[in-house]
Amino acid sequence: MSPPALRSALAATLLAVLLAARAPAAAPLVCPDVEATVYGGSEQERSLICAGLADAAGFLAGCGITRGAGLEVTVHQDMREVCDTPAHALYDRNRDRLEIASLDTCLRTNTGHDLFARIEASAAYRSIAAHEAAHAIVSRAGVAPDRIAAQEYVAGAAQFASLPTDTREDLTTALVPPRARPVELAALNRFIYAMAPLRFAAMASLHFEQQPDGCAFLQDLVAGDVRLRTMP
Ligand SMILES: [Zn+2]
Repeated sequence: MSPPALRSALAATLLAVLLAARAPAAAPLVCPDVEATVYGGSEQERSLICAGLADAAGFLAGCGITRGAGLEVTVHQDMREVCDTPAHALYDRNRDRLEIASLDTCLRTNTGHDLFARIEASAAYRSIAAHEAAHAIVSRAGVAPDRIAAQEYVAGAAQFASLPTDTREDLTTALVPPRARPVELAALNRFIYAMAPLRFAAMASLHFEQQPDGCAFLQDLVAGDVRLRTMP
């Protein structure tokens, strides 16, 4: 390529990059069934996120636990924009908002052991939105961030409650074998969560269902009247 032709090719490339960078972002979506706004993402992602947020809000409201404020969610192509750990999604307590990877990113970065390797992608995506929404709800309800096992218990129970029944049953069967049931409260500790977060979520879901009054247990947990252990 001659120097003038090269210059004009470079100029065209630069213009394309600048125009792409200036392209207006899609307008944020106000979720229809829950007080939340989603920034970025495809139509499918936004609809799954709104559904997951509504699942968690409904699950917890059914136990009298509400957030009392709207929630903002941003969809990212690359979660490294907002965190330095390989998370699919997170609740940023300081900014009180959810950050979630795009569905493609979740599928591309799944480790082979996580949810996206085990169940249908849209159900997995909806459920991780529910998980993080539960963190957002109970954080405002007063569960301190350092009460990790309590936070993850509620988030795990809400996440599994958002899954279709057959999927939830198959997944809990795969993650928590009969010999580990009924799930003991002592098993729901921070150490197990750190070692196997998805298994912890399944155990929390089963433990919640085992309770004669699951809502009463959840309320005691949120209030701090029940304390989960740090170590086994
Ligand atoms: Zn969590």
